[in-house]
Amino acid sequence: MSKKINPVESVQKEIKFACKKLGLGESYYELLKEPERVLMVSVPVKMDDGTVKTFTGYRAQHCTIMGPAKGGFRYHPDVCLDEVKGLSMWMTFKCAVVGIPYGGSKGGITCNPSELSKGELERLTRNYLRAINTIVGPEKDIPAPDVNTNAQIMAWFMDEFSKLKGYNVPGVVTGKPIPLGGSQGRTQATGYGVTVAVKKVCEAMKIDITKTNIAIQGFGNVGSYTSLYCSQNGAKIVAIGEWDKEIGTYALYNEKGLDIQKLFDYKAKNGTIVNYPDAKRISLDDFWALDNIDILIPAAMENAINENNVKTINAKIIVEAANGPTTPEADKILSEKGIPLFPDILCNAGGVTASYFEWVQNLMNFYWTKEEVNSKLEHILIKAFDDVYNMQKTNDVSFRKAAYLVAIKRIADNMKLRGWV
Ligand code: GLU
Repeated sequence: MSKKINPVESVQKEIKFACKKLGLGESYYELLKEPERVLMVSVPVKMDDGTVKTFTGYRAQHCTIMGPAKGGFRYHPDVCLDEVKGLSMWMTFKCAVVGIPYGGSKGGITCNPSELSKGELERLTRNYLRAINTIVGPEKDIPAPDVNTNAQIMAWFMDEFSKLKGYNVPGVVTGKPIPLGGSQGRTQATGYGVTVAVKKVCEAMKIDITKTNIAIQGFGNVGSYTSLYCSQNGAKIVAIGEWDKEIGTYALYNEKGLDIQKLFDYKAKNGTIVNYPDAKRISLDDFWALDNIDILIPAAMENAINENNVKTINAKIIVEAANGPTTPEADKILSEKGIPLFPDILCNAGGVTASYFEWVQNLMNFYWTKEEVNSKLEHILIKAFDDVYNMQKTNDVSFRKAAYLVAIKRIADNMKLRGWV
């Protein structure tokens, strides 16, 4: 990519636009333009070969007026201060769009987890918790999985925090394994929620989901469950874009539709889908430019749709499953091309909503069935979609801007009532 996108600046522009459109004064923007707190820490790890390596970790908490901060932490070589800050800001607005009582946060460690052994990952996670332990906790800030972090990592995190406190604190983190107080349905929740959004989009645009071709970039947690549930709802998943250690980016294509259950089984067996036999392997450039796609779902990293590929995109609709997958410039071009885009802070909010349920269950020590979780999840996500859809209709703005209007209006009402402005 030729231009470095600063996620903080992108969100600031959205906040500014929303404050103006809602008739709010500068003070609201001043309160929202930067995270309340950012902690940067050194995380030393005793490596398997006996040497010590120090990694850089972060935790940003954006705005806590609606409740404790909430957001995942990721392990990735690109993790940096601005990325973590920007992601924490998105979390505030994501929680406010769906109306759950949280502020936004995000954390991460700059590292390449594929180069770390299981023991090194465990020590990294435990030492990260020790470094940030004073600012997290069930009433302060509740982390969760994000890119390259999973239930096992949440288990180590919860264990280390509980040891420091001297008693079990399951509510310090969500996305835990079920025996440790994790919630039914949490692992699948983001993909489940993206599928609820896809169904609502089809309903709103009067499209029959069983006649849609879908392309998904990413087959990690979010991409894989999104493809599974969309295909179970009758959509044809014709392409999946992925990344491989050996060959870099690529995509699998099958115009008759990929068998997603078979792909899951193949990945469980081989750890990758790169040599999956029942598909043609195409380049990621060709993936973006496919001309038979109804719904394109970026479900990997930020800035996936950017000035280099946006002009080649022919999909009819975009549903964002990753956080920040479209650059502001690409966003503009898509709207000029008349391609409606349904934004991340609405469409991928299923994960954090199920995290909210997990935290509530931890605080109550009373656990729900998967059916209860999914029906509550669906209820919240459908209402959020309708709120954003109606906001878009009354204000004639993009769906992204409408989502910010819904979120910032809720936060601003709280600020006014509490006397912050
Ligand atoms: N990392 C997820 C997100 O970006 C989930 C956060 C959470 O569950 O707290 O929405």
